[in-house]
Amino acid sequence: MYTMSSSDFTVHTSECDAVGSGMPISSLPDEVQSLDDLDCDCWDVFDSFEEIE
Ligand SMILES: [Zn+2]
Repeated sequence: MYTMSSSDFTVHTSECDAVGSGMPISSLPDEVQSLDDLDCDCWDVFDSFEEIE
């Protein structure tokens, strides 16, 4: 369900329009500790970080 942008390596949902032709990844990077670390609007559909996992 995660996609990493090949241009800036930000992580998005697989449905995100902003990521373009990124590469699918199986899990969030260790650096991502909270929703605040995910800048894109595609994560706004999640109310809490727990919902993503
Ligand atoms: Zn996104």
